[in-house]
Amino acid sequence: MSKPILIDGFNRKIDYLRMSVTDRCDFRCVYCMAEDMTFLPRAHILSLEELYQLAETFVALGTRKIRLTGGEPLIRAGIVDLCKRIATLPGLRELCMTTNGSQLNRLAQPLFDAGLKRLNISLDSLDPQRFKELTRTGDLAQVIDGIDAARAAGFQRIKLNCVMMKGRNDHEVNDIVAFAIARQLDVSFIEEMPLGIISEHNRAESFCSSAELRTAIAQRYTLLDSAESSQGPSRYWRLAEAPDIRLGFISPHSHNFCGACNRVRLTVEGRLLLCLGNEHSVDLKAILRAHPNQPEKLEQALYAAMKIKPYQHNFEVNNDVQVVRFMNMTGG
Ligand code: SAM
Ligand code: SF4
Repeated sequence: MSKPILIDGFNRKIDYLRMSVTDRCDFRCVYCMAEDMTFLPRAHILSLEELYQLAETFVALGTRKIRLTGGEPLIRAGIVDLCKRIATLPGLRELCMTTNGSQLNRLAQPLFDAGLKRLNISLDSLDPQRFKELTRTGDLAQVIDGIDAARAAGFQRIKLNCVMMKGRNDHEVNDIVAFAIARQLDVSFIEEMPLGIISEHNRAESFCSSAELRTAIAQRYTLLDSAESSQGPSRYWRLAEAPDIRLGFISPHSHNFCGACNRVRLTVEGRLLLCLGNEHSVDLKAILRAHPNQPEKLEQALYAAMKIKPYQHNFEVNNDVQVVRFMNMTGG
């Protein structure tokens, strides 16, 4: 007999897990990390086997979609094998990944063959120098090669994630749209979120709203409002000039999407975060390590966690950091 699925205190079915497989990264994007980061010691992070066991338990309790993220998931050794194991869990419909693309030239085909279904690839600029400035260490040509390798490997509906910042890369919005049209990629334009303390820029000054971006896009293209939804924070639009691709706008400062929230996040330290913008969490690693080979203990913890999932987050557009976690710790 199958087990009861995960339902939170607001009667929302929780069937989407975002799993961070590392806090480390080969980039240092200015909105995501400080230049000088201290990463977790090995003993504090979940092993590949523990990540798998957690995925297995979630899927047994109704999780239908898992997104692997980080940090940069593709710099975790053994990631392809982990994908292969998770992809075959009975009941899982979609295994996806968010990546900065730097390793895709080498890994796109093995990942596709392992059963990874969907890729979101971050790309904030098409200017090599600006790309370097925003990522601090990234190489644009390598990422574009990675995107092309993913298309060649057979990935469908690849999505670009673009964090747009005023005075930094917002003027590139239409170049990014043209790039996406030429390669048949979807795009999510993401408003910067106040996660972690950074000194490189003032988040309030660099904030660029989705509405401003749409005004800029409308100067070159015809935007068509679309009722499509992914149950997430994106609002989708299509372009009359390229109806096959979708443009999503993620506005975390609006609360519109919280009511239909279906997701939770797992940090690589094994902490289950119940809401991106709140600190409510449960230490699943402690349970896993205290009760090895007793999945029922984890299951009990997951049912109990559902009761403390908050209704909504509370981001504000000012520089007061409400959530001290960096995005690489959160599992974006
Ligand atoms: N390293 C991978 C990547 O960059 O795609 C996966 C992890 S990254 C934390 C996931 C997504 O979060 C990326 O698209 C990144 O642009 C976004 N992100 C990071 N920090 C953010 C912030 N403060 N506000 C909004 N988006 C952020
Ligand atoms: Fe690394 Fe992704 Fe954060 Fe950039 S956004 S520093 S690529 S984890």
